[in-house]
Amino acid sequence: MTALSVKRLLGLILRLIVRDSQKQEAIKRMVRRVRSPFGKSKQSWFDSGYLHLPEVRIKPQGTIHSAVLRAIAVSPQYIFELEQLNPPIPAHILNEADDRRLTFCCNICGTTNTDVALSLVSERETPSCEKCGSSLRVRSVIHALTAEIFGESLPLPSAPISKSIRGVGMSDWDGYAKPLTRIFSYHNSFYHQEPKLDITNVPESEFEKYDFLISSDVMEHVPKDVDKAFTYMAKMLKPGGFLVLTVPYKPDGDHEEFYPDLHEYRLISTAGKTFLYNRTSEGVEQIYDNLVFHGGDGFTLFMRMFSEAGLIKILEDSGFDGGIKIYRDDDPRYGIVWPISWCLTIVARKAHQADTNPGYGAQRSS
Ligand SMILES: [Zn+2]
Repeated sequence: MTALSVKRLLGLILRLIVRDSQKQEAIKRMVRRVRSPFGKSKQSWFDSGYLHLPEVRIKPQGTIHSAVLRAIAVSPQYIFELEQLNPPIPAHILNEADDRRLTFCCNICGTTNTDVALSLVSERETPSCEKCGSSLRVRSVIHALTAEIFGESLPLPSAPISKSIRGVGMSDWDGYAKPLTRIFSYHNSFYHQEPKLDITNVPESEFEKYDFLISSDVMEHVPKDVDKAFTYMAKMLKPGGFLVLTVPYKPDGDHEEFYPDLHEYRLISTAGKTFLYNRTSEGVEQIYDNLVFHGGDGFTLFMRMFSEAGLIKILEDSGFDGGIKIYRDDDPRYGIVWPISWCLTIVARKAHQADTNPGYGAQRSS
């Protein structure tokens, strides 16, 4: 995903979520974007169905407001309405967050990117390395991966060749899949093309084979049996191995399945609108509109919205018994600056042996 950087979250809200299309356009025109602050005090937060946005810039006046969106529906999508738009925040109270710049080393290609707008660096999905086009999300995957393997976060060009370490990615971004192939015994895998991997149906020959797995923004698209997918990921890991996981998730509440009865289903497009048609195992026909898609080609429909607590539970229940760590801390050296406190990178480890726990134990933050 898309991921829910604040900007994308707003995009989601505006595109999908406000049902009335004219209203959508009006809000889209009005709210240009949310600034990406360093300070935690300016982070957005989601609480009891309300999304609090500390800074929303309004066009065309250029004024900055705080706003609250109210979730008026949660299934099959979050649908938000503007609940409250506060008076403009006086300029002297803003600390020029928009103008902050960052010089960082891309931990994927090694390029030093000089004086880049912080608001760009902290976009989860937008390319911000001028050479390889890496985004915050992919840099944070490599940050967590190298920290777990080498004990410190390393740019891939400085990582020692370690062919004894076996890993597999699921539809990984080419920009880091290539260097990982050079450094480790790593291969990428795909659902629709070779080398294929159906993570809901993994052959036993793949069990306990890998030191690491990468699943970055995949699990929200697995059509059904996502519990099975997590169980198979744990089975594929050697004892002591770990999963680097990213998915869009919300900070509060339970994980929500948008289409819980999927059985025989297909997408139907008519006159510019796409529907999901489903026949349940009981033969009941269902039509869903208001679908949320996520970049790229093919069937990348959002199937569910995870929550932080829901993810920890599903990981623990699936055999990741060596500890779960959420990489919450920024590392500006490598262009890792999170504007939000959710949708972060998670590492879930399998215990070395059933009766030892050399991982993080119950630690849930870094
Ligand atoms: Zn780069």
